[in-house]
Amino acid sequence: MRKFVIFGASGDLTSRYLLPALARLLECGRLPADLSIEGIARSDWSQEEFREHVREKFAQNATDVAPESRDALLSRLSYASGDITDPDSLRPLLPTDEPIVAYLALPPAVFAPTIKALAAAGLADGSRIVVEKPFGEDLESARELNRLIRQSFRESVVFRLDHFLGKQTVQNVLGLRFANRIFEPIWNRNHVERVDIVWDETIALEGRAGYYDATGAARDMLQNHLLQLTALLAMEPPATMDERDLRDRKAELMRAVHTMTEQEVSAGTVRGRYTAGEISGRQVPSYTDEQGVDPTRNTETFAQVTLTIDNWRWADVPFTLRSGKALGRDRREMVVHLRKVPHMAFDQTSRPRQPGNAIVLGMDPDTVAATVNINGPGDPFSLECIRLQTVLAPQSIPAYGRLLLDVIEGDPVLSIRDDEAEEAWRIVEPVLAAWERDLVPLEDYRAGSSGPVELREPEMGVPARPEPPEDESGC
Ligand code: NDP
Repeated sequence: MRKFVIFGASGDLTSRYLLPALARLLECGRLPADLSIEGIARSDWSQEEFREHVREKFAQNATDVAPESRDALLSRLSYASGDITDPDSLRPLLPTDEPIVAYLALPPAVFAPTIKALAAAGLADGSRIVVEKPFGEDLESARELNRLIRQSFRESVVFRLDHFLGKQTVQNVLGLRFANRIFEPIWNRNHVERVDIVWDETIALEGRAGYYDATGAARDMLQNHLLQLTALLAMEPPATMDERDLRDRKAELMRAVHTMTEQEVSAGTVRGRYTAGEISGRQVPSYTDEQGVDPTRNTETFAQVTLTIDNWRWADVPFTLRSGKALGRDRREMVVHLRKVPHMAFDQTSRPRQPGNAIVLGMDPDTVAATVNINGPGDPFSLECIRLQTVLAPQSIPAYGRLLLDVIEGDPVLSIRDDEAEEAWRIVEPVLAAWERDLVPLEDYRAGSSGPVELREPEMGVPARPEPPEDESGC
């Protein structure tokens, strides 16, 4: 692959994530030496104006990339302006004799016309299409988009990206589960009490009303990122890590997620919207007072949904997916809560009862932790809950970089297959429909608070290696 074409090159995604990730790949020696990058958008810019725009954005978004590597990437960039939804305007911008990566960094409304235009303009054999989230805005539109793509492209050349799948902790779910003997035997309803997948953020709207107010927390986070995490955490073991085996397993799991009834949505979901408050000394206005927000849309900034999975392994185990903005604390983790032991022989009267074990996969920063009850350092018959934790080294290549590399190398293993994209909407649609009908109240929560509902966190215990006792005698 020698040409990487970004449709929507003047937009936020391109300058915030795509070009910095490509620059980082170049710096790490992972970008093919002959790969050139072409940007296309409607903005009437010269080559130099585009490069200047990218240079300015690099100063904000690519600070982890050395200036020489940024310059090296700039020297590979070119720009063309045109309306890409029009095949006649698009045709002269595309090479016909060599395959390209066509990256659609475009507003969702432009996906379908661009796919039609690309098909009409004709891409050389071996070309790849990359589609950003959100893939459709409901089940019907996702199906329609898939139908359209299928008319002109094979599924193996289509990459529906979800950048969470490029995160190292997320990939580590696979290593942890399927490369160790100790976890898989307990990874089921007999041993797991519940699973929480949490993405709580302190950041508020940050000027993104144009996108967020029409989207909300459930569509922005649960429908894609958190459901993908659910699939990886709960799927059956694949035979290999090839794209077919892995994605078959994810899709199979998603098909088993129970379709919620209205009563279940009322009982098992919470939606909220932040009001004015303070987060770490920063004053945050009420969501409805943020610039560009239409209060009558009732957009949720917090969503929590408890799902169940109708299969042998997970029957009756609640999986709670939760994400919110403007909360008091960043908490980004997947927690597998294990059941308590069936009988506790230790005297529990003088101390709080010991919790069940928990396995915690933290994201940003990336950590792996487990809580274990052991005999305390003092009385050998009293128990202490300790935390075994490791902090993973930061990713050398950002999540987007990892996924772009897969695109360039033609491996869709970490992109979302057509059936997964549709299943995700099938799962979330009943929730959105019930919320639309106000069957679940939109609850206010103060910015800086813990949200409209608390999620019981695991007892994380004391670190495994506490400071040695002050007393020299060691008693
Ligand atoms: P922007 O609105 O910032 O950019 C959209 C881009 O599309 C602009 O470059 C615009 O160029 C171009 N465009 C729109 N219509 C046409 C057209 N007819 N012909 C040619 N170019 C066109 O959006 P974002 O960059 O924020 O988002 C792009 C996609 O990425 C969306 O699907 C979004 O959901 C997704 N995404 C964004 C993230 C982010 O942080 N920004 C994160 C994850 C996903 P011009 O105005 O010059 O025509």
